[in-house]
Amino acid sequence: MTKKNKSGRIKILPDSVALRIAAGEVIDRPFSVVRELLDNSIDAGSTNIDLYVDGGGTDNIRVVDNGRGMSREDLEICCLPYSTSKIDTMEDLDQLQTLGFRGEALSSIAACSKLEITSKYNKEHSNKIIVHSSKLLSFSKAGGADGTVIDVSDLFYSIPARKKFLKRSSAEATACKKTFLEKSIPFPDISFRFFTDKKLKIFLPVSTLKDRILSAYPGVFNNKLLHEVSSLHKDFKIKMIAADPALHRSDRRYIQVFLNNRRINEFAFVQAAEYGYSEFLPGGNYPVIFLFLEVEPSLIDFNIHPAKKEVRFRNLQEIHRAVIDTIKSFLSTFEYNYTKSSLGNEPSRDFSGFTEILKEKKVEFSTSPIFRKESDSLNYSNNHGNKTKSKTASISFEEQSQNKIIYMGQLFNLFLLTSIDDIFYFIDQHAAHEKILFIEFKGKKGETQELLIPFLFDLDSDKESVFIKDLSEYKTIGFTFEKLEENKWQLLELPANCAGKEDIIINFVQSQKGSVSDLETELYADMACKSAIKDGDIIDAATALELIKKTLNLKNARCPHGRPVWFQVSREELFQFVGRT
Ligand code: ADP
Ligand code: MG
Repeated sequence: MTKKNKSGRIKILPDSVALRIAAGEVIDRPFSVVRELLDNSIDAGSTNIDLYVDGGGTDNIRVVDNGRGMSREDLEICCLPYSTSKIDTMEDLDQLQTLGFRGEALSSIAACSKLEITSKYNKEHSNKIIVHSSKLLSFSKAGGADGTVIDVSDLFYSIPARKKFLKRSSAEATACKKTFLEKSIPFPDISFRFFTDKKLKIFLPVSTLKDRILSAYPGVFNNKLLHEVSSLHKDFKIKMIAADPALHRSDRRYIQVFLNNRRINEFAFVQAAEYGYSEFLPGGNYPVIFLFLEVEPSLIDFNIHPAKKEVRFRNLQEIHRAVIDTIKSFLSTFEYNYTKSSLGNEPSRDFSGFTEILKEKKVEFSTSPIFRKESDSLNYSNNHGNKTKSKTASISFEEQSQNKIIYMGQLFNLFLLTSIDDIFYFIDQHAAHEKILFIEFKGKKGETQELLIPFLFDLDSDKESVFIKDLSEYKTIGFTFEKLEENKWQLLELPANCAGKEDIIINFVQSQKGSVSDLETELYADMACKSAIKDGDIIDAATALELIKKTLNLKNARCPHGRPVWFQVSREELFQFVGRT
């Protein structure tokens, strides 16, 4: 039951009530104050910013900057609602270069705390304003260095209902720290310090973007495994600090997306990062990637939510696609570097060194496919007893030795065992065969087949424009699509070997999770997975050896779903396991 006002008549709320209600939308918890104050210091062109958080932020939050400061006149009005120096007209929203623009932060903070601001502008002396719960208490001359010092004390003292919902001060301090990191990461040209309860907790000196991330999360990432990548597009730029796939996590914590230097929670880009890495990471694992998008301000709208939690894009699909493409092209060049580079002290994650070792040893590989045709393509029996004919039933130890690669047997009906020099390898027969078939299928261009009954599907309006641009490329790889009416399409032709896979094709088109060539990847990965020998299949020695040789020749020894094809352990590691050195 709501308590009605006495007369039951409409009246305009007094400013004291209206301001506090409005403040609640912008200032939710102490970290919201941190967010707004850091935004202002960054917008003021500061090169040094210090943040102090005491008592979880409810006791005091102080920000000290060396930015351009505020003149006496500016300081007098900065705490009033809708006071801003950042825009004049609605049109200015299309050119926005600053983090703030709504002129609501200081007035909201002033409505729910005890606020003191000391600021020095140009050659003027500094001034100090004190406002408690939107009431001006004093305005005076003050001493102080260039820039601005803002103190926010006793947060929510004037809104007790909000105070009740706060968490323990340690949890509030942690949320402030998270906001501090999100704010400082995209600005490596600014030096930031974070103090809690008077102690310096984080110092982020001026650095490169990559070093900024490394110092924001000390000890979390290996420097060698992070790479800076960028791509330039008509209306936007993409920059990313992206990790080697050897570095991955079981959660999405380090998939972070920034738009025009502001952290955003747009899931489409988190998904784009996952699609980009999908061929390189085992299922259930997530990449480490910090994505910085710089988009023409007129193509985005941050003016949706008072705390700018949401953003709208005019060209979301285009950027989404470009992010996936940039990640994929990074990972493909990276395969090459991967072979050449040493991964430091992570030898068991290096899935690429084999080919190099074997080249040194002058081991020749047969170029013929392992499984030539249907009849001799399954040179194994499965563990349910369904034996198939074995073309080459056995191979002598001597024969094997002459090749320097020895097949030592199969373990747990899955791993093919072999060793080279001082390294012992466990090769996952399914993953290895799957990758080999995948490469073969992808390399073969099949006939095109017309569908007797065209396959109908819907496509959202925001995806149609990107899809229309892709149509001719789809045609060159054998897919013919036709538009029937707004949002209604049909698939008319497809490569003959993809018949029966219409669901995968349409799902791919509808989700736009990659470029046209990624569709081939997805289809052939599916075919390879279905045709490859399985976990549990028993294979004969000759087939195993052939498979091992082919596997060792792979450039990127991961299956199309991103799982490593083998695991390796060195003689040295084995010796250490049993206490020998
Ligand atoms: P907005 O950032 O949306 O303009 P705010 O309420 O956050 O609104 O701030 C109001 C104005 O006060 C800003 O436009 C800016 O001119 C001034 N201001 C606030 N903080 C600072 C600061 N740290 N240094 C210089 N000017 C500041
Ligand atoms: Mg602001």
